[in-house]
Amino acid sequence: LAELFEVNRSTIVTAIDELTSYGIVSGRFGAGTQIISNTWSLFLPNISNWNNHLMSGSFQENNVMIQAINKLEFEPDVVRIGTGEIDPRLFSENIWKDILQKVGSKIHSLGYTENLGLPELRMAIAEHLKKTGLCAKPENILITSGSLQALQLIAESLLQKNSNVYTEAPSYLKSLQMFQSAGMNLKGIPMDSKGIEYWKLSTSGKLNNSILYTIPTNQNPTGITMTKDRREKLMSYCIENRLPIIEDGAYQELCYDNDAPKTLKAMDDNEMVIYLGTASKTLAPGLRIGWVVASEPIVQRLGDVKMQVDYGASSLSQWAMTEFLNSGLYDRYLKNLKNELKNRRDNALKVLEENFSDLANWNNPSGGFYIWLTFKKNIKIEKLFEEAIKERILLNPGDIYDFKENHSLRLSFAYVNSFEFEQAIKKLVQIVKKIIPM
Ligand code: PMP
Repeated sequence: LAELFEVNRSTIVTAIDELTSYGIVSGRFGAGTQIISNTWSLFLPNISNWNNHLMSGSFQENNVMIQAINKLEFEPDVVRIGTGEIDPRLFSENIWKDILQKVGSKIHSLGYTENLGLPELRMAIAEHLKKTGLCAKPENILITSGSLQALQLIAESLLQKNSNVYTEAPSYLKSLQMFQSAGMNLKGIPMDSKGIEYWKLSTSGKLNNSILYTIPTNQNPTGITMTKDRREKLMSYCIENRLPIIEDGAYQELCYDNDAPKTLKAMDDNEMVIYLGTASKTLAPGLRIGWVVASEPIVQRLGDVKMQVDYGASSLSQWAMTEFLNSGLYDRYLKNLKNELKNRRDNALKVLEENFSDLANWNNPSGGFYIWLTFKKNIKIEKLFEEAIKERILLNPGDIYDFKENHSLRLSFAYVNSFEFEQAIKKLVQIVKKIIPM
């Protein structure tokens, strides 16, 4: 903490003592200190009365580690070897200049768009999805402000409070937070190398009124891709148990070794699946463009709620995305991106083999961004996180994605280049060796 917030250690210890005396944190520093009331309230003058409201609402505060990650990601000298974002250097600034210039000459005004989103973009996405084997009409597509918003719309308009959401364990942190904030019970189901072990669902709670949330391709955070056979069996199981599915296809287009597997949505003859896509993992998360593919009543319901929430996604972003897809630039750019990420993945696996084989196990992902690394011996991940920060390496500890404590890290080869990854891993090995007694 002292390193993170650039103060000396005794200041932190004094502050923790003081926060403990206020009842804001509990526990012993160094052995896990937890915030039990929010710290920001300290900075508000009492008279404003906002103190009494600050922690109201359904969203919980991020824990200290997640807050630290959110802050450190924006520090320029930090090497991010767990980040779920493409390296911005892979994107030439001329691309944006060209796209925005073309968009600028086409649009007359930037008005609100209709409730399902810009028709031109829904048409372009429908065409694009055809290439991936998914047939959808524009009326089955809703444009959202990123796919995270799609999850929020689903949680708030289709799911019942206190119902069960089954998901891979571990899974994408922000989806978990979103479902939790909307009042759902999360049920983590283990995975093997072929995907979610769906047969364990039946023993984990009641299935009626429940849904399954899955990231079948290049899963976040494990990098696992569900096999064709597992997909088929999962679909049969869900049909038999009337269990609707949310399929998060954020990494669907990032398969490096084989053709992308068929989406669950493409196998869906019963309107069981709501499919989520996003421009964030292939193009630019800052566009905040995602899409839902579902049956018309679902899309209409979500679109209606979206109008109540934000009156549509950014129309500038929607036009830019339309231009990307219709000009063919998206396909050309994606081909290069996949080549680069494949090289980075290969390099990352080689570097891990050379440096970590005595210390940890990991999987070989066939696409996406992530490698899930698990230490062979128990290691204090919090300590590792803190020590890595001293070397300006930012880690994404596995704990934050999981339902239980683990000794894992989510590594990502997407944000840093091969040289940076190798340098960081070499430093990390030294830190790990200091922490784990050999
Ligand atoms: N789903 C998954 C599995 C993700 O990893 C992410 C981004 N980390 C998202 C959804 C969110 O994407 P968006 O930026 O479109 O909200």
